[in-house]
Amino acid sequence: MFLNIMNQQQKNKVCEHCKNEFTISNGEFSLYEKVGIELPTICFFCRVKLHLSFWMFGKFRKGKSDLSGESLITVLPENTRYPIYTLHEWHSDKWDAMDYGVDYDPNKSFFEQLKKLQEKIPHPHQNGANNTNCDWCDDVWNSKNCYLSRSMEVCEDLYYSYRNLSVKNSIDVTVCYNSEKCYDSSDCYHSYKLFYSKHSRDCIDSYFLYDCRNCQNCFMCWNLRGKSYYIENIAYTREEYLEKIKSFNLGSYNSIQNYKKHFDEMIKNEVVHRPNFNLKIYSSSGDYLLDCKNCFNCFTISESEDSINCIRGMKEKSNIDADGCWYSELAGNCANCVNNYSLKYSNWSSSRYSEYLNLCIECEYCFGCVGLKKKKFCILNKEYSKEAYEKLRERIIVDMKRKGEYGQFLPYTMSAGSFNFSSSFLYFPETKKEDILKLGGYWEDVDESQLEGMPTSELPDDIKNVSDNIITQALICPKTGWRFNIAQNELSFYRENNIPLPRYHFDVRTREALKYLTVLKSYLYNCFYCNKKTEAYYLPEWGYQKIACEECYKQNIN
Ligand SMILES: [Zn+2]
Ligand SMILES: [Zn+2]
Repeated sequence: MFLNIMNQQQKNKVCEHCKNEFTISNGEFSLYEKVGIELPTICFFCRVKLHLSFWMFGKFRKGKSDLSGESLITVLPENTRYPIYTLHEWHSDKWDAMDYGVDYDPNKSFFEQLKKLQEKIPHPHQNGANNTNCDWCDDVWNSKNCYLSRSMEVCEDLYYSYRNLSVKNSIDVTVCYNSEKCYDSSDCYHSYKLFYSKHSRDCIDSYFLYDCRNCQNCFMCWNLRGKSYYIENIAYTREEYLEKIKSFNLGSYNSIQNYKKHFDEMIKNEVVHRPNFNLKIYSSSGDYLLDCKNCFNCFTISESEDSINCIRGMKEKSNIDADGCWYSELAGNCANCVNNYSLKYSNWSSSRYSEYLNLCIECEYCFGCVGLKKKKFCILNKEYSKEAYEKLRERIIVDMKRKGEYGQFLPYTMSAGSFNFSSSFLYFPETKKEDILKLGGYWEDVDESQLEGMPTSELPDDIKNVSDNIITQALICPKTGWRFNIAQNELSFYRENNIPLPRYHFDVRTREALKYLTVLKSYLYNCFYCNKKTEAYYLPEWGYQKIACEECYKQNIN
């Protein structure tokens, strides 16, 4: 009997959102059972897309608290469906989410009732804690003096950066750890003065490195280990190297653009690419996994086990379809939930044994609540006795099942803002406006063509010709028309490191860097060395010529 059910479940399903076929594997099926959630009706990609649309990657803007009028800086959109309070006010006892509690109406859709409730409950203006001078930031923890940056922990003097840990005095860094004085680099660790580089670690005073380790004074190199004074993987004497670097004209925007083109060609044709960037994994699949055991189809997860289909998390155990979940066990179909146990269909919540929560903290046995703190047995922000709670919960689930709502994550209509300013758009930049609107989501067309400022094409080519008063000049991004400025400390950094001024808006720069870190699907390649079929996480259109299988990469590069 059980086997019969298993076989039935394995059949192909058609995704209710994108109409593509998808399957549910045996492993997924058992974990759905263990976590106790319904089987998905939308495919893996559409699940991720929906989850991450609740995580805003909006433009930084000034606003006011709807409680006190206090000014604030947020990435939440203007004209939100819900009030915005400062983070401090949100956590205070100046308001009580229980005041908004409502009775369940069996004649209406549960999601509609939950959305109505959600629209009355304030959102905190940003996420984070223990920061000094990080007002123009979001999702920042234990950091100091950071500016226009998002998602970081223990960082200092960081500008225009995203997803960093313990990085200091750097600009335009994405997914970097334990580094200092770096610029325009992504997925680099333990480095100092590393510029324009990717996937490298333990490197010092170098430019345009790809997959290098332990290198010092290297320029335009790939797959190197423990080298110094190399240019294009060729050894030079110290004197020759320094002489060459001097002649490279690195302060000029045009010459950097040419080097970037050359770097891209090199990545395509010369670099031996490993199939993935996993480290210390046991019986797992996915990309950017660190210290994971039995994790399948997971991406950017560390210290986790027995999880499937999870993106961006840490210390996860037995999670499935959980995105942006940290310190979490038995989470199913959840997004952005930290510190939780047995949580289902929830968003931005730290709670236990609950379902359909949004912005709830330390709750237990709650169903369909928003903004609650330390509550038990609540439904739509109303408290019940244990028995009444269980009865009503059962009843709502029956009603929801009838309407096809139960088991679905919160709908797009409940996301915090427009899709094209959410983290989801970073993973799915090809998404069409009409498809999101059809699903009830939001989209914001930004027309800033009226904004006044200097086109960046008029900037001096070389940093040495930039005058001090550039910091008072508004600049216009040629791609988006968005306005941006050069900050005083930023200018000093560029001068000190001979880096030309950027021409594009900082969010455009971050989006570009992320393109290469957000592939959620493997493609089949033939190993460059042994010709064995190899699953690798690189888009075919990148045209990488030398992709190696795990064994050949270890043998030839490591
Ligand atoms: Zn789909
Ligand atoms: Zn091979």
